[in-house]
Amino acid sequence: MDKKVKQIKSGFVNAMHFFIAVLVIVIVIAAIMITVYIPSVTSVLEEHVQGEVCNAAISNAAATEAYFNGNAEKLKGFSARFNGVDMNSEDSIRNACIEIAAASGFRHVGLATVNGVTISSTGLTENTSHRAFVKEGFAGKPTHYANVSCDFDNKLSDMYSVPVRDREGNIIGVLTGDSTPFSFTEVKMLGIDGDTDCFFIFDKNGSVVYTSAGNKADIKLGDNIVTRIDDENTANEIGYFLNSTLDDMYKPIKINGVEYLSCFVDMPESQWNFAAIIPSQDVYSSFGSMITFTVLAIVLMVLLMAASVIAVTVKISSVSSQLQVMLNDALTAYYTDELTGHGNVAVFREKYPVSMKNTAAGHAMISLDVDGFKAVNDLFGYEGGNEVIKKLAGVIKRNIGKNDYFARKGGDLFYIMKEFSDKSEIDDLANRIISDAEYQVPDIKLNLSIGIYIIENPNINSRVAADRADMARDTVKNTKQSRFAFFDASMLEQLRREKRIEDIMEDSLALGEFIVYLQPKYALGESNDVVGAEALVRWLHDGKLIPPGDFIPVFEKNGFVTRIDYYMFEEVCKLQKKYISMGIKPKIISVNMSRVHINKTHFVADLADICDKYGVSTKYLEIEITESAAYENPIKLYEIFKEIKSYGFHVSIDDFGSGYSSLNMLKDLPVDVLKIDRSFLTKNADEHENASLIIGCVVSLASSLSIHTICEGIETKEQAVLLTKLGCNMAQGFFFARPMPVPEFEKLAYGISA
Ligand code: C2E
Ligand code: MG
Ligand code: MG
Repeated sequence: MDKKVKQIKSGFVNAMHFFIAVLVIVIVIAAIMITVYIPSVTSVLEEHVQGEVCNAAISNAAATEAYFNGNAEKLKGFSARFNGVDMNSEDSIRNACIEIAAASGFRHVGLATVNGVTISSTGLTENTSHRAFVKEGFAGKPTHYANVSCDFDNKLSDMYSVPVRDREGNIIGVLTGDSTPFSFTEVKMLGIDGDTDCFFIFDKNGSVVYTSAGNKADIKLGDNIVTRIDDENTANEIGYFLNSTLDDMYKPIKINGVEYLSCFVDMPESQWNFAAIIPSQDVYSSFGSMITFTVLAIVLMVLLMAASVIAVTVKISSVSSQLQVMLNDALTAYYTDELTGHGNVAVFREKYPVSMKNTAAGHAMISLDVDGFKAVNDLFGYEGGNEVIKKLAGVIKRNIGKNDYFARKGGDLFYIMKEFSDKSEIDDLANRIISDAEYQVPDIKLNLSIGIYIIENPNINSRVAADRADMARDTVKNTKQSRFAFFDASMLEQLRREKRIEDIMEDSLALGEFIVYLQPKYALGESNDVVGAEALVRWLHDGKLIPPGDFIPVFEKNGFVTRIDYYMFEEVCKLQKKYISMGIKPKIISVNMSRVHINKTHFVADLADICDKYGVSTKYLEIEITESAAYENPIKLYEIFKEIKSYGFHVSIDDFGSGYSSLNMLKDLPVDVLKIDRSFLTKNADEHENASLIIGCVVSLASSLSIHTICEGIETKEQAVLLTKLGCNMAQGFFFARPMPVPEFEKLAYGISA
């Protein structure tokens, strides 16, 4: 049992370890997920963002450049208009300009003449010879300037200019057209993540020429991006790019501590650079919150898992401790004798093998009981009897040593395991127990029988040791005083004999070696006729006739007695059938039935079946059951007697008075015949007035209850005379006839000669 508790405990410990291991694994997996997931998601994200930023920058740069080219080409187309114009007529020139302005959509259109003045569609004529776009126009180069103050209304404008040539290709003027400054809304822009407020056009120095963000951006019109960048290396890198003819460059930058993602794209036609510059936070914030959400979900999962593991572990440990308490209770109950509160035989099962391992000390198995404990119960009732047993347990407990243990097997039977170094210690213990029991139970004379077996071979199991102690105890039983005895070899010889009997009993029964002897029963009184007989078994083996006393006790121990009883009963039925078929009225024959039958359910019905089988009436048969059966289970005995009678059998109590029979019992039991035990008789019974007085009482009580009496063991004429005088109905004994073989009885009782 202890082992089981340990197993269960270790099971729970393992379960807890398992749960903790699972928890650790889950945390590790979560940590790996977080450390691997975030960087990998971030790198995918960066690639994606870079792609988006660069895509937008490249595609918007192309669209913007196309828009600018469109404007320049338009102006160039209108320059041919001046071929038919009188260049010396200011009005003619102005009219052409007004026409072109109306057709082209430029705010103002002007023609700078070779003498340095510009005649415009506004009606004004201004000297513009100092203007770069005029100079460059005369140099034959079309231009596009941003953020130019208009000469006609001083507003900031985008200024386009193209040379005007005559038919010979000579430059005869420069056509200029200004428009409101470029707005990114004029071009269909590809946004970044929906955002179109992040585009810029820089000149080669890095100054902002246009911005789609207007004043919202941190980088404003006119600002120089190169000087604004926090990190000098990055600034240089970008400055270099802006001046180069490289196509595009992606670069994360920092301005005033704020991080931006940027992509610069060369605009080869306009000599500018397009750029998409967007705060990283704007791009990453949605992804950032997605990552944060995922990480939080993982952390939450881990926490939930941890919480449930902790809850399960706590639950397991609480169930485990409850179970432990239950197991401990069960364990205590398992080893405890309910009545005495001390050990029961389970203690021996557990401790005996351990004792046997300690070969340094001697060990003795002691068997102890009270002679005729039934009398104690009769006298003091069951409660009183129980008190005596408890006191006896106390006596044993007080007197055994610290390495000794004991158990109650049941009833008044105890076993003690005594550890000793000198044999005298065992004698001392037995004597102490006997005298202490006398002292503790002064009201009753307790006769203790103590049998001791010294275990010399540790391989002998506890049952064998207990059996041998029992054998020793049997030798001091019913000596009318407390005594103890040691097991000796002769007892072992008895044991071997019993074993031999067991080995051959089956075969002997099959071979018909068990034989019916009949002892006649005689009427006492006027006639001394044979009125019946008792069937007594004999075992004829190897030419020797073995008396039942040598084998019935062995058969009672191993249960074989029930087979013998049925066999005897059947043999007697056969005899009765034979007499009936011979026309003889059979005399009642009694058959002994061991008390072992009492707890067998079909016992009486089986006997009735045997009678049926031979067609013999149950009234020719008597069942003898010994008085001692009443000690064991009086209620059951009463039921059995009733059942026997209900089938019509006669029933008798055998050996009445040999033990502690109670006369009281008689008035309750449905009995036909009382067989008074021969121990009442002595050779000269009349000299013993007490005995005759008792027999007289029993006989008259029985007769008042209509129970017949038969006295067993009548050996002398005097006894026969006395019993007749005392009113006993029948007699059985050597004085009349010994148990005899069947033919002899038949001759005696029925005059049948063989
Ligand atoms: P029991 O049933 O009390 O049988 C009477 C015993 O007393 C018989 O012993 C008988 O031989 C003996 N006896 C009769 N008259 C005298 C006498 O005057 N003096 C003395 N000293 N003895 C006398 P037995 O046949 O040896 O049987 C002994 C016991 O064995 C029986 O006692 C009975 O308890 C048991 N027994 C015998 N046969 C059977 C059987 O078939 N089945 C069972 N279960 N037990 C049986
Ligand atoms: Mg008998
Ligand atoms: Mg008897």
